[in-house]
Amino acid sequence: MPSEERHSVLDSTVPGSIDDLDALRAYLGTCTRCPLGTTRTKLVFGVGDPHARLMFIGEAPGRNEDLQGEPFVGAAGKLLDELLASIGLERSAVYIANVLKCRPPQNRDPLAEEIATCTPFLAEQVRLIAPDVIATLGNFATKYVLGTDQGITRLRGRLFHVDGRSVIPIFHPAVALYDRSKTEVLFEDFQRLKTVLDRASDLSAPSRDGSREDLGHEGAVDQPTLF
Ligand code: SF4
Repeated sequence: MPSEERHSVLDSTVPGSIDDLDALRAYLGTCTRCPLGTTRTKLVFGVGDPHARLMFIGEAPGRNEDLQGEPFVGAAGKLLDELLASIGLERSAVYIANVLKCRPPQNRDPLAEEIATCTPFLAEQVRLIAPDVIATLGNFATKYVLGTDQGITRLRGRLFHVDGRSVIPIFHPAVALYDRSKTEVLFEDFQRLKTVLDRASDLSAPSRDGSREDLGHEGAVDQPTLF
């Protein structure tokens, strides 16, 4: 497969003196590094256990998140809580962040330059939290973390290893709000996520070669571009 330049969730332009999430949040301040800083209500940094073994990465704040300054607080957040409960977890036991920390106007898709500007802070969160498992919720998070152009429909439910961490792409819970058929798929994939989490501590030396394991999702998928 042709080699391509790859990014890493651990790539970061944040000063090395930052050694915890509070310091990173303070460093962000009232960020206006991209234009979304002038249209948001509240910056949505992330929430949860700063030492969580499981980290969720979504797309960007929506209307409710923008107003409250917390990720996944609307209907999609309620479903996320139900999905977590289905595998015996509470929100406080995981960490939840987004590719973008500020809401795009009218919930439009994130722009490439916004992602490029904001994701160094997400990368720093990943470094500081050091989760064993990352669940990417939806297309934008999956494409960013896996460095792939393949969509979530092809990649969901499969396991990848990136920078020594297990990564499992899952549909964004918001999808199930307008396509109820995705609800069952989400619950199935959360069971896969539980399997990954249970096995994470048993994984051998970190793999940086893009190796993957098949968790039984039907249908072949081409090897995606990993870091
Ligand atoms: S989206 Fe990210 S880079 Fe843009 S203003 Fe918000 S925090 Fe700053």
